[in-house]
Order: sequence, then structure tokens, then C-alpha cells
Amino acid sequence: MRRWLRVRLYVYGCGLVLSACASSVLADIEQSEKGFQDIAPSPSSVIALIERPSLDPSDSTFVIVSTQTLPVAQTPLPTLNLLAVTPYPNATRVSIGKSWENRDIWAWQFGNGLHTLVLIGGIHGGAEANTVHLADLLVSHFRQNPDDVLPGIRLLIIPVANPDGLARGQSLDGRLNAHQVDLNRNWGCEWADTAYLHEIPISPGSQPFSELETMVLRAFFLSVSPDAVLFYHSAAGGIFMGRCGDSEPGADWMGPLLDDATGYPVSRFTAYPVSGDATNWLAEQNIPAAVIELYSDTQPEFDRNLSGVMALQCHFALDSIMSVQPDQALQHRCDAYGWGD
Ligand SMILES: [Zn+2]
Repeated sequence: MRRWLRVRLYVYGCGLVLSACASSVLADIEQSEKGFQDIAPSPSSVIALIERPSLDPSDSTFVIVSTQTLPVAQTPLPTLNLLAVTPYPNATRVSIGKSWENRDIWAWQFGNGLHTLVLIGGIHGGAEANTVHLADLLVSHFRQNPDDVLPGIRLLIIPVANPDGLARGQSLDGRLNAHQVDLNRNWGCEWADTAYLHEIPISPGSQPFSELETMVLRAFFLSVSPDAVLFYHSAAGGIFMGRCGDSEPGADWMGPLLDDATGYPVSRFTAYPVSGDATNWLAEQNIPAAVIELYSDTQPEFDRNLSGVMALQCHFALDSIMSVQPDQALQHRCDAYGWGD
């Protein structure tokens, strides 16, 4: 059972209280941002967590949480640097950190449920810019259709995980970050010092999480504790579940569910060895995660991917809501689209 000590930063009308709270918390975070190795592991260390405690979807409250329940064995502890928080109707946008070239990595939050879904575009930057287009379209959709954020769900969307690569356009250089590192070879499960894109050697970084962008994303994941994560890529046309050793959480339900909802076939990626993959690291943390490879390297393939996100939401919403009280409208809605299967 989680017992959080909560200090709430109210986005609306917080005024001086927000300033005082934020400067104090950010000072702590900036001090520890210099490197994970500098952080003394302590059960009372403060981490930042994006969370909204109420069940009112229109309430945009970010909460900075300190906890005494994080496993002490997690060394070093993650930190999340909340650089800017902007409320919008039905949504909140926050910068969770910066790239090497000082670009913000933005996260959008919709809903405030207990089940957290995370969607990430653009880890391969401009080379897969259509995944950024897709994520941007999903953000627009949920801003304009707040009822599509189902009860019990908190939806977090990071449209551009590699903003420096995105700025370099659709090229091999645009796939990499500003240090010419492939950010999807820089994670901690089965990291290797020689990595590949097909038969081309490609830099995985000097060590796991050597890159600012992967450090930021790692801290984000460990802070928000997702129930499921999707990374959008292009253009291998398939669904590939995260797996690390024998750990393949969600493979029994999430792969088939996404296959049905999106039409992308679920399979194993065998085209060439992939080391240091983000979804594999998430699997190591026992977080169900999948790569969604679009068919095209230019089109966002929005409709089928919206179906995938709705199917995932139904999976968790039906589970959490129905255990409290039957919600026939939700059941019918998910059934009508086949999302509740
Ligand atoms: Zn990719």
C-alpha cells in the first residue's frame, strides 16, 4: 500500500504558494540533476511525481510527492525536473526535462485516474517524424474530446522524446540525439557497447542512460509508475512487446489486445539484434510496454492508433470501475468498438 506524503502545487490560482513551493522543490531537483551517482540513496529522498488526486477530469492539479515507500535498493534514486507547468482546458502540459541542446521534453497529462498509460513519440527524432505527428494528433484529439479519456485513467503523452533529432529532419542524423547516440539503444536491459541499425553499427552511448534524454525518461517512468507504455516507431509495421530475459509483462493480454484494435500484427522483432531498448528496460521493471511500428514512414496512421489507445483504456477502466460499481454505459461503449475484449 502506497503512503504518500503530499505537497500539492496547485496550478490554478496558486500564486505565491506555488512560487515558494516550486522554488524549494526545484532547488532540490536541480541539485540532484547533476548526476544520479551524486544522489545519496535515502528512503526519505524527495522525488517529483505528476499526479492528480481527485477524480474530477477537469481538475488540473500537479502534485509533488515525497515518499518513504520507494525501495531503498533503487540506487541511484530517480529525479524528475518539472521545468514548466501549463494548464489547458482538459489537460496539463509540463516540461519534464531538457535535451542536450536545451530543448524541452514535454509531457501532456489527461485525466486523473489510478491507472496510468504513457504514449511516447519521436524517440528516433526526425527519422520517424510521423510518430511525432501521430502523438500530436492524439494530444489534439484528447484535448478536443475529453470524454475519450475514460474513467479511472491518467493518460500521459510525450510527443517528442528526441527533440534534437527531430530538428535534424528525416535522415540517419535525425534519428540520433545531439551526441549522435541512438536513444533506443541507451537503456539498461541488455545494453551493449556496439549496437546496430540493420547491419550499420550505431552508437548506444558510453553506458546505459549516458544521455540526458534517457535519464529524463527513466526518471519520468519511475516517478509515474505506468500500468502500460507504448513507444511509437516507424516503419516496420508491427507490435513488439518489451521483454528482458524471462520478464515479458503484459504479453498474454496487451499484445493480442493491441493487435485486434490496431491491425498491426504482434510478433517478435528478429530482423537484427537490438540492445538497450526502452520497452525491454520497462519489462525489466515489470511494466507492460510495447513498440508500435507504423506501416508508413510518412503517415501518422491516426485512426488505428486511436483505437489501440482506447482499447488499452477500456482494459484498465473496465477493470477499475467495474470492481467498484457496474458502469453499463462504459461497458457498452467499449463493447461497441470491441475495445473491451
Ligand atoms: Zn524507431
